[in-house]
Amino acid sequence: MIYLVEDEADIRELVIYTLQNTGFEARGFANGRGFWQAAEKTFPDLVLLDIMLPDEDGLAILKRLRAAAADLPVMMLTAKGTEYDKVRGLDAGADDYLTKPFGMMELVARVKSLLRRRPAAEADDYEIDGLSVSLPRRRVVADGKEVSLTLKEFDLLAFLLKNAGIVLTRNQILSAVWDYDFEGETRTVDTHILTLRGKLGVCSGVIQTVRGVGYRIGRQK
Ligand code: CA
Repeated sequence: MIYLVEDEADIRELVIYTLQNTGFEARGFANGRGFWQAAEKTFPDLVLLDIMLPDEDGLAILKRLRAAAADLPVMMLTAKGTEYDKVRGLDAGADDYLTKPFGMMELVARVKSLLRRRPAAEADDYEIDGLSVSLPRRRVVADGKEVSLTLKEFDLLAFLLKNAGIVLTRNQILSAVWDYDFEGETRTVDTHILTLRGKLGVCSGVIQTVRGVGYRIGRQK
């Protein structure tokens, strides 16, 4: 799934139309808010970002995306001149840049090339009792079926996996995944563990409750 954030409707429609006609699944958004709402439900495989946007601009979206998925391919769509230079100068962490106006053939070629060079970061892939998780791709497969997680559910699962076999307290989880440094909000952790287990179905047993302490991920007993 390819997401495009572009406030100019003409460009947005043309790009989405072209990508869909080339056989890609693609959705366009006029602003960051719509994009993040969709990403909560289905995380994209590649993102095309305009820079000048209402509210959250493309560089701010890029920064948040990089924090969420370091290896997600991102291409910036930049206007000629200063904007382009700014992005290059900032080295904002995009994988590619396309200067407007651009041709659709060129766009499709760049998209294909970006999708091809996705890394196989096996060190960040996990397999536990029928559950397989790729952290760089944000992909979760439980018992052969792909699982769709929200950003926070995924971050929670990733934190447990990076510490597999270790019991983590609710406060440790809270400060790592939610960035909260105060006690008392630990119900947030319990609620997310509950929905995460629900989504993992037959694999839910890999997340173990350690009474009076917290949670641990490991082989099902
Ligand atoms: Ca724009």
